Amino acid sequence: MMASAAQDTSSQDIERWQGLAGADLIAAVYEAYDNKFAVVSSFGTESAVLLHLTAQVDPNIPVLFLDTGKLFGETLRYKRVLIAQLGLTQVRAVKPDQDEVDAEDPKGALWLRNPNACCAMRKVRPFATALRPFSAWATGRKSYQGDARAGLSHVELDGSRVKINPLASWRRAEIEDYFDRFDLPKHPLEAEGYASVGCMPCTTPVTTGEGQRAGRWRNQDKTECGIHLPSGAAAAL
Ligand code: SF4
Repeated sequence: MMASAAQDTSSQDIERWQGLAGADLIAAVYEAYDNKFAVVSSFGTESAVLLHLTAQVDPNIPVLFLDTGKLFGETLRYKRVLIAQLGLTQVRAVKPDQDEVDAEDPKGALWLRNPNACCAMRKVRPFATALRPFSAWATGRKSYQGDARAGLSHVELDGSRVKINPLASWRRAEIEDYFDRFDLPKHPLEAEGYASVGCMPCTTPVTTGEGQRAGRWRNQDKTECGIHLPSGAAAAL
């Protein structure tokens, strides 16, 4: 079956996919959507698991990487290590529009005065453009990553697209076991207390007992960049 949009996917497919996880879910949706399927990755602390699962299915699956211009150098180096180790061939850097950056953030400090606008310019809008050719996409989100992600399902409808979360039901221990089993390298900042890694200005280490994403936009109400908000909400950022 080749589908071009979520509307073309039957409710039976969605129901069947909800019962799958990990590589089985990626393989099933990739079989349905072929070159209309992509994976998004931040190359953060747990990204190696989703990327390894993806490479097992097909290392040629497109991987969209949001290169905001505000990332840690460690993340960019880690990306190169994982690409080489996993044999990924289609990692695509998704960058903000330079004209927009020049107009809206000429001094590079928009994150400080309006982080939602910064995320919209550096992440949400470029990602929406990069996602246009695709009808289905996969994320590495897990339900244990905090209240905003609790109850996450394996399959969601994201506007006209199918969005899958192959690790939604995995527990933290399963992620750790997977790293050990396949000898996957850790993000270098994890050893310095960064449990989740995003842009440098908006990420801090966490202390014992804090949630995994407590270091993201610390002391702000903001918990997500916007690409995982419903399409309408993201557009309003
Ligand atoms: Fe800007 Fe921070 Fe969002 Fe990165 S995480 S795009 S620096 S507000």
